Parts: sequence; C-alpha cells; structure tokens
Amino acid sequence: MPRDPNCIFCRIIASQIPAAVVYADVHVVAFLDISPLSEGHFLVIPRDHYVNVVDMPAEECAQLFLSLPVLGRALLEVTGAAGFNVLLNSGTVAGQVVPHVHCHLIPRRPGDGLGYRWNAGKYAAGRDAELAAAYRKFLEQT
Ligand code: AMP
Ligand code: ZN
Repeated sequence: MPRDPNCIFCRIIASQIPAAVVYADVHVVAFLDISPLSEGHFLVIPRDHYVNVVDMPAEECAQLFLSLPVLGRALLEVTGAAGFNVLLNSGTVAGQVVPHVHCHLIPRRPGDGLGYRWNAGKYAAGRDAELAAAYRKFLEQT
C-alpha cells in the first residue's frame, strides 16, 4: 500500500499523528478538518498516497466517491446543516495545500457567509464547440 512517510495525511492513516476520525474502512479514512470552514467540516482521503486525483486508478477513485452518500447523510444528521459542499482542490493553483488527495465535506447553513467567487463568463462564438471537440478527441485516444 503506497505511503509517503513525509505526508501528514499518510501519517494520520498510520496513527503517527492524531486526528478526530469520523469514519474508516479499508479504502478511505475521514477525519475532522483541523481548521474548519464550518462546524463539522471533515476530509475524506484514500488510504493510498496519491498527490492528485488524476494519478489515482479509477477503482480507487471510485471507492473514495462511494463513501460520499453515507458520509453526506451522516453530516446532515449530525450537524443539522441544510446542505454541504464537496470540494476537491487539485493542484496548488486550485488551492491544494496537502499533497494527498482529499475531499472536503463542508456543512452549509443559511447565511453562513461561506462561498466561492463564481465569476461566470461566456464563450466567444464557436469556442465552446472547439473546446468540446478537443475534449472528445483527447478522450477518444485514452
Ligand atoms: P487543501 O487546501 O484542499 O489542501 O486542504 C487541506 C486541509 O487540510 C486544510 O483545510 C487544513 O486545515 C487541513 N489539515 C491540515 N493538516 C491537518 C491535520 N493534521 N488534521 C486535520 N486537518 C488538517
Ligand atoms: Zn499521503
């Protein structure tokens, strides 16, 4: 099982540093975020060390996401939140600080002031078709 001895989340999995664990199975571990954006904010991580979601075998990624329904239901029940965000920061530019794949589950409550700068744009004429074609071409080759 791949581990990185210098990775803080691998060290949590190995019980070398403490964490407030909320769930664990053979594939994933979930624990409270040490600096929560809202009460009950937790992380779910694969037991294996992958820096980026694109490095993961699809089956392992599937196992990570298979945990979301039960964890999401637990979050809603335990925190009484009205909803939650699932956030996976992939790459430093996207805000990833810890280089071990993790999903944030962030409880949301009306008026909580959390949010995202969602500066939606518009495509120039034809650019959307061009991009979709480029994606299809790439994905057909993989
Ligand atoms: P990200 O910016 O997506 O890489 O988020 C990393 C998250 O890990 C941050 O929200 C941190 O608060 C959290 N974090 C870092 N170290 C620990 C730790 N030892 N236990 C729990 N959460 C941690
Ligand atoms: Zn790790």
